[in-house]
Parts: sequence; C-alpha cells; structure tokens
Amino acid sequence: MSIPRLANLIDGRLQVPQHDAWLNVHEPATGAVFAHCPDSSSADVEIAVAAASRAAASWANTPVEQRAQRLQRLADLIEARLEEFALLESRDSGKPLALARALDIPRAISNLRHFAAAVMTWGSESHAMATGTTDTGAINYTLRQPLGVVGCISPWNLPLYLFTWKIAPALATGNTVVAKPSEVTPCTAALLGELSIEAGFPPGVLNIVQGRGPSVGHAIVEHPRVKAVSFTGSTATGTQIARAAAPQFKKVSLEMGGKNPAIVFADADLSEANLDTVVRSGFANQGEICLCGSRLLVQRSIYETFRARYLARVQALRVGDPSDAGSNLGAMVSQMHYDKVLGCIEQARAEGGHVLCGGHAIHLSGRCADGWFIAPTVIEGLPSAAQTNQQEIFGPVVSLIPFEDEAEALAIANNSHYGLAASLWTQDLSRAHRFAAQLEFGIVWINCWLLRDLRTPFGGTKQSGLGREGGSDALHFFTEPKNICIRY
Ligand code: NAD
Repeated sequence: MSIPRLANLIDGRLQVPQHDAWLNVHEPATGAVFAHCPDSSSADVEIAVAAASRAAASWANTPVEQRAQRLQRLADLIEARLEEFALLESRDSGKPLALARALDIPRAISNLRHFAAAVMTWGSESHAMATGTTDTGAINYTLRQPLGVVGCISPWNLPLYLFTWKIAPALATGNTVVAKPSEVTPCTAALLGELSIEAGFPPGVLNIVQGRGPSVGHAIVEHPRVKAVSFTGSTATGTQIARAAAPQFKKVSLEMGGKNPAIVFADADLSEANLDTVVRSGFANQGEICLCGSRLLVQRSIYETFRARYLARVQALRVGDPSDAGSNLGAMVSQMHYDKVLGCIEQARAEGGHVLCGGHAIHLSGRCADGWFIAPTVIEGLPSAAQTNQQEIFGPVVSLIPFEDEAEALAIANNSHYGLAASLWTQDLSRAHRFAAQLEFGIVWINCWLLRDLRTPFGGTKQSGLGREGGSDALHFFTEPKNICIRY
C-alpha cells in the first residue's frame, strides 16, 4: 500500500513542497511510517508569505461578521468529521483515541468558535478628557488594527488543539497567517487546511507550510514581512525564536516548557474523584501536556497514606494500544522522545531516586509490538534541587516530594526556572488564596486541574513564557493599538 503524502496549503491551493523533499511520519503505537510530510524549505515560506501579503489588505477590510462566519464554518466542518480527526490525531501522536475524541478535537472546535464569537463583541477603548475649560475637551479612541502577516508555530503534544488556539485569534482579528504545525504530528493540520478551502477562506488568508523547525519555522520567524510570531514549544526553541525575532523588534508570544507542582495539603478533600484528578494531572496524555503536575508535593502528616492510595491508582492505569477504549495511556510521540524519557528515569535512579512504580518501557504484543510505550512512573526520595525535579521530562513520570508546612511547600514549589501552572489541594479557603497569590506561576488551579475557560489569560512566568494567550490577551497580541485624540 502506498504511503499518503500530505500537502502544504499555500495561496488557497494544496501544494507539494518546492524541492520535492519529504519527511517520514510515524505512528508511535507501531513505530511504522504511515504518512509523508512535506520537508518544506524557505522557498515555500517565501511563496506563502507572498500569498499572505497579497491577501492581507482585503482580509483586514472584510467585515468582522464574515471573518467570524468562516471560522464558524470551519468549526462545523471539523465537527462533522470529528471521528476522522480523532482517529488521525491518535494515530499521529500516540495518544488514546478516547482522549483525542473527548479533548483534542472538541477543544479545537471550541477554539475556532470562541474567537469567532469573541471578536464579534470586542470593542475598543475610549477616554474622554477635560482640557481645563468648560467648552472644549477631547476624546481619545483606540483602534486595534491587524498586524498584517503573522506566523503561528505549534508543537506535537496537542496538535490540532494548539494549532487552532493560535490561528483562530490571528484570523479573527484580520491577520493573514503562515502557520507551521509540528513535523512530528502534521496530519490534522493538513486536513484542517483542506477544509479551510471549503470553509471559504480566500486564497492566501491561511497558509500552512509543513516541515522542520530549523528550516520552515526559522524562515517564518526571520521573514521581514511576518510581523509577529506566536509560538508554543520548548524553552530551547523559544530562546532561538526570541533571538531571531529581536533584531526586527517583532512581537513574539512564547508558550514554553514547565515543571509544574501539584501541592496536596493534609486538609485536602481527597475523595475518589479528586484523587483521580491528581493522578490525571500527572499522567494525562502520557504526561505530555505542558500543564501536567510532574512534582507532587504532599504534606508529611498524610504522606504515607496518600502515597499508598495514589500508587494503587497509578498502578491500575492501563498502557495500551491507543485505539483500545480501555487504554489510559498510549505511546510516547517519537522514538527520540521515548529515549529521552527513559534516559530521565535512569538519571533519577542515578541521582538516588527510588522508583515506586513503573520505571521501564512496556513491550506490547501484536500490532503494537514496536511501539514506544512507557509505564507510568512514580519516584520519591529526591531533593527539590535534583535534576529530576528541575528539568522538564514531559513524560509519564511524577516525583513525590514531602513537605512540612506552608512555608516549605511554597519554597519547593517556587524553586524552579519554570513558572507555567500549579495546582493546589486544600479545603482551607484562606490558605488557598494566600498561597495562590505567592506562587510564581501564570496559572493556579485550586481543587481542580485543566479546568479551562478560554476567556482567561493563559501562559507562564520565568522560562515558561512571554506574554499570554486566550481571551482578550490573544486579540491584543494579534493587533496593533493606535490611539486617536480629537479635540473639540
Ligand atoms: P519544539 O520546541 O521542539 O517544537 C515546537 C515547534 O517549533 C515545532 O513546530 C518545531 O518544528 C518548531 N521549531 C523547532 N525549531 C525551531 C526554530 N529554530 N525556529 C522556529 N521554529 C522551530 O517543542 P515540541 O517538542 O514540539 O513540544 C514540546 C514542548 O512544548 C515542551 O517543552 C512543552 O512544555 C511545550 N509546550 C508548552 C505549552 C504551553 O502552553 N506553555 C503547551 C504545549 C507544549
């Protein structure tokens, strides 16, 4: 059977890469190549930016209702093929099909609908001024105009979810887009590209150039006609993007890595449902979510009872074929990432960590015999400063850390170069507010995890991020404010 080739979407047409070069796309559950992705080059980026530039003025002047309608139509088209998208996402990334069906694809649809609706009710500011006399004054009003051509670069862990999280606000606010999904998981963005033609986006408004970061991604960031770059991915890549964008004073929004704490106080309501959420916060999507709590801080007075209940649940998680409804965890996204995570577990052992469960690869039989599976792993006995508690592993690995009191919990939680998200479990309302205010993280969940309202600011502090996405923050990022002052 021939292996299908994905296409770029440039200037409203599906196109092969200029240099006819292709990358293998693997199915993580089997290790087999199941698609070929364009290995595009700066030549493809050049024609995409040219198409986006030609389309920019007309799209910026398209009534907001019509821009919103196209996004809604795209959402409808994806929804009508939700199952196909979910299957593709699961096959491409290794995540359980049930998760792609319940989380990834519905959230991609919500992203499109959210920003279509948000832009319709978005107003600009106005400020009336007194000038010191009673018969004259002035009014300031602020236009928020699209930037022109913008770049959107997304990672592999939540492929369509994060791709739409960027292109939706960019398009809604009247920009034209050159987007690059991860070369590791290019499939659902390619299918979205096809549907965007049917949704009626004019040629050049949305361009999707598939390929590798150092070639396609870098060419987008460096291109002088690309006015802003919205990036989600690793801190190492974010650093390179910030460096490349700086000489041109480009706007950048950087959503990067995390090493998030989940903090459980002795007074937490550890009902079965809540305990399940704590487990999910460590292992959902094989731990490959930037928001996963990989440092689990537990108050010493309940440490042992908590550990026993927690471990029983983690050990009950089933690692299996992502297409099997009974699988809680699927495969790691790539051989490279699988090797990295296993290496981190070895490092944890080498630095004195005690592996309480997991700690090894899982070898399945049948169709998944060559897949990249790792058992959910819980480690204890490592100080906060240990590499295991400092570096982002981005896999199914949680490190348990006991603490005595609030002060110690805070010191451990904040002892990180990262500052993306924290979750806090307590029934003491005063403590919850006091503690949340002192956490050096962009997002704090209290007695919940991954409960998302798309209107709220999303992003991290320190090396986790620069800027915020979501709600009006995204609309602000993709527009340039212009203040106009009129004296009367
Ligand atoms: P990555 O940095 O390797 O790649 C992300 C994207 O950037 C890909 O499309 C890649 O091709 C591209 N890229 C790579 N080098 C580039 C360059 N020099 N110039 C421009 N683009 C380049 O990240 P990944 O491995 O795909 O994703 C995992 C990382 O993403 C983790 O660190 C995770 O924490 C982070 N992440 C963060 C968030 C968040 O919201 N903060 C969300 C999801 C994932």
